[in-house]
Parts: sequence; structure tokens; C-alpha cells
Amino acid sequence: MFSELTDELKTAGAKLVAVSKTQTNEAITALYNSGQRAFGENRVQEMLPKHKALPKDIEWHQIGHLQTNKVKAIAPFVAMIHSVDSLRLLLEIDKEAAKNNRKINVLLQFHIASEDSKYGMNYRKVRAILEDKKFKTISNINICGVMGMATFTEDDTLIRSEFRDLKKIFDKLKRDYFYDNEDFTEISMGMSSDYKIALNEGTTMVRIGSLLFG
Ligand SMILES: *Cc1c(COP(=O)(O)O)cnc(C)c1O
Repeated sequence: MFSELTDELKTAGAKLVAVSKTQTNEAITALYNSGQRAFGENRVQEMLPKHKALPKDIEWHQIGHLQTNKVKAIAPFVAMIHSVDSLRLLLEIDKEAAKNNRKINVLLQFHIASEDSKYGMNYRKVRAILEDKKFKTISNINICGVMGMATFTEDDTLIRSEFRDLKKIFDKLKRDYFYDNEDFTEISMGMSSDYKIALNEGTTMVRIGSLLFG
């Protein structure tokens, strides 16, 4: 499965974040030994012991909702935070990144699904953040793009239109706010059940768990 998937993603030019939540260190190590380096976790409490136990060249991606009081623990090593959904969280990440003398890569999470349970912001909220005076003080964050989750449904047409919305949001932000920012390149969309649709709609990063780990 792994090599078929990585071939498919390579052809499409998308990066794989292997979602290792609930997986054992042994299962993660097996994938690591096949060459996988980027792993995604949605809980800080789970990422920390894995980071401690596993090889140091693993890139850890925080993909689940992040509380401000948990930022400090992952700030020394996290490779990317996909789930930024407030100015308050951005300011906290900036503060902790500065303390660790590094820049942290983040994505702005958008609510694109028709379900109302999921996290994420709308365009208006993001625009307000980008135009806030406090945002201009941020100096230890690279905003690398956007992230979104489609509705959990069998309706491919709906999923496709939600991914299209996210691609349009990315293009608009790139044009209006990040045109001269070389970091702003990523669209994190697509999971086990819908990554093929995401590949068609311009994803640059897929977050795949169950399909890989079984
Ligand atoms: C669990 C999870 C995934 C991966 O889901 P699978 O269906 O196992 O591929 C992707 N993104 C987020 C935010 C997740 O929490």
C-alpha cells in the first residue's frame, strides 16, 4: 500500500503526512523504515511521547485542534501546525517559537464542510486576523498555506466542491496577502477516503491514516 500510495502522490506532486494517531511506535517505525518521515498527530499528549521515543529526523505535524496551553510543549520541535484557528493561537505560537529561537510553520484552518461540528475559520475571520495590528507583530511564524476537512459523506460531488472552495480561498489569500511570500504554498486537504478527489483539486499535502496503517 505504502509504495503504491507514495508513487501516486509523487506523480501528483503532493506530500504525504502519515497520520499516526492511535498507532504504536512499532507501526510508526515500520513506516519510517520504508522511508516515511512526516507523521501527523491530533493530540499533543500523544505526540510528545512518540517524539521522545522515535528517531529525531521525524517531522511531526500537529493536525488536530490545538489549545493555547499546549503550544509550549511542542514548540521546540513541531514541523508544522495545520490547525491554526485564531489570532490568539497564532500569538501564542509566535511567543513560544521566539523562546525556542526558531520559526514555526503553520497553516490556517478553514471550515469548508457543511457539517457544523468541525473546527476552522471562514474567510472573513481570517481577513480580520491578517489585518489586525497584533498580527503585524508576529515574527517567528511562517504562514505556509491553508488546511481544511471536507464533509464526511459518500457524496463525491459535495466533497469536490468543498475542496474547490479551499483552493479558491488559497488563491485569493495568495493574491491579496501573500503574493510575495515564498512560504505560502501549501493546501493541506485529503484523507484516506477522499484523497483522490483532493489530488484532482490541487492539494499539495494529504493527511492519510487508516488507509496506510489498516
Ligand atoms: C485522523 C485525521 C486524518 C486521517 O484520517 P484517515 O481517515 O485515517 O485517513 C486526517 N486529518 C485529521 C485532522 C485527522 O484528525
